[in-house]
Amino acid sequence: MSEPSSSDCLFCRIVAGSIPAEVVAESEHSLAFRDVNPQAPTHVLVVPRRHVADAGELAAASADDLADVVRLASRVAELEGLARGHRLVLNTGSGAGQTVFHAHVHVLGGRDLGWPPG
Ligand code: AMP
Repeated sequence: MSEPSSSDCLFCRIVAGSIPAEVVAESEHSLAFRDVNPQAPTHVLVVPRRHVADAGELAAASADDLADVVRLASRVAELEGLARGHRLVLNTGSGAGQTVFHAHVHVLGGRDLGWPPG
């Protein structure tokens, strides 16, 4: 369900500034900050400012906001010097490893990532 924000959501609190994060880029509708448990030399999370549980809900709520998240992820890759390549990951559901139920894109890069992922 789309809501403006949720006080018990970790990423809503980061967006609101009540929990600190290392912000690397932002736009009107999205915020990018470093993951606290990086899985690659660059590991940044890009989140919509609006509270939705996952990428599918974000697409349903606002195609513009989904596009804004992907655009900001590309901007992060540029800022982080990932011209050789980077990976965008959108875990959806606990079975896929989603632990924070506020939509987010992982931007990973800075090392050989390999495919398929291990
Ligand atoms: P996911 O497992 O796809 O839901 O991703 C959630 C990500 O949030 C994980 O990679 C965590 O390391 C990251 N994370 C959890 N708490 C914080 C925090 N306070 N600041 C930045 N990243 C966080």
